[in-house]
Amino acid sequence: MIETTYIDMDGVLTDFYVGAHDWMGKPVEGFPYDSAYNWAVEAGIDYENFPVNFWIDLPKYKDADKWMDQAKGKIYIATYHTSVNSLVGKTLWVRKHYPQLEKNIIFIRDKWLLAARGRLLIDDNLDLTDKFIEHGGQSLLVPRPWSERELSI
Ligand SMILES: [Mg+2]
Repeated sequence: MIETTYIDMDGVLTDFYVGAHDWMGKPVEGFPYDSAYNWAVEAGIDYENFPVNFWIDLPKYKDADKWMDQAKGKIYIATYHTSVNSLVGKTLWVRKHYPQLEKNIIFIRDKWLLAARGRLLIDDNLDLTDKFIEHGGQSLLVPRPWSERELSI
């Protein structure tokens, strides 16, 4: 029984990949299906210096609500902020799209610290979903081009 769900933002609810390319005026040419590929470095995208508005205006994934519907129990957004601007902008993005969760945002990189029996992590990062299970929780890996496990399905 799931009592608490932690759901990620970038790659699950927000399309950071397309949003960052659009912001930089770079064409989106598809992801090369290589987990070691650092697209932000390749495209020269320095997202640590992006302004608050970039984070507020990030596109919402078409399937974001589908993943949100998988959340059970008490729901928290669990995301990592790369800058103060991203912390503020992400909070305002949640206010815009999921206002009921504005006060339920946890800014954290090491999401497995939240893992326990009865807790679910919904995330697009394979390392994070694996570690969450190792630490006693359950996880749901959102398949995206950079989610390595998707390759074997
Ligand atoms: Mg993510």
